[in-house]
Amino acid sequence: MLMVANWKMNMDRDAIVSYLDVLSKEGRWARWCAHGYRLLLAPPYPYLDFLMHELRERELPFWVVAQNMCAHEKGAYTGEVSADMLRDLALNGVILGHSERRRLFGETDAHVAAKTALALSRELVPIVCFGETEEERQSKDYPRVWERQIAPVWKEVQKARASGSETPVYFAYEPVWAIGTGRTAALDDIREVAWNLRESFGHECSSGLLYGGSVNDESLSVLVEKGTVYGFLVGGAFLDPEIVLRSFHLL
Ligand code: PEP
Repeated sequence: MLMVANWKMNMDRDAIVSYLDVLSKEGRWARWCAHGYRLLLAPPYPYLDFLMHELRERELPFWVVAQNMCAHEKGAYTGEVSADMLRDLALNGVILGHSERRRLFGETDAHVAAKTALALSRELVPIVCFGETEEERQSKDYPRVWERQIAPVWKEVQKARASGSETPVYFAYEPVWAIGTGRTAALDDIREVAWNLRESFGHECSSGLLYGGSVNDESLSVLVEKGTVYGFLVGGAFLDPEIVLRSFHLL
């Protein structure tokens, strides 16, 4: 089970040190990890290397993933960060297609698919976000939104598999109406997503399903269901390391 802490554009060096000070007090990380419960931290780009260094120093077995990357390999893309650079920092993976990237920065399904292909080619684990808006939810045809977002990505995953890639891919169902709103999806909603992914794209696609949207240690206890969710992507709540700890005690 993966627990992804998406810090978004928050934290700085001092805050990272304090955060890790709290997590370092817990002695069970190695055991949790051995049982398949892993914490993934997604800091802003400037702190990736610093965080990796701090984790090594403290011997904390967390994974570090980026919040985004460029769809192009290299070249004249001012302000962008490439898959090779993430690889060079020895990162484990990258979050792709977060709804904030889609809504605020114009990312399309095609961009997300291209980034997924590139991530897989560099053995970076893609965590691909998808999910409907409130308006799309009202239309009742919202499963088509999931299909539209995932189909081009899944095509790239199939191509990568055909060329021998075994890098896992995770899909994070993040309904836009649940992100940062305090409204979590119900377990039945998540089961519906899992069923649709299995029907449309097969078992590999649905078995790596994560859920994100106003998760905290309280909602988590209701949403953890083995066989339905492979983990959670958490924004606001996981800025507090005490909530991270309380959540791991619930798993
Ligand atoms: C997110 O940013 O992906 C997210 C799920 O945020 P929050 O947990 O704050 O709703």
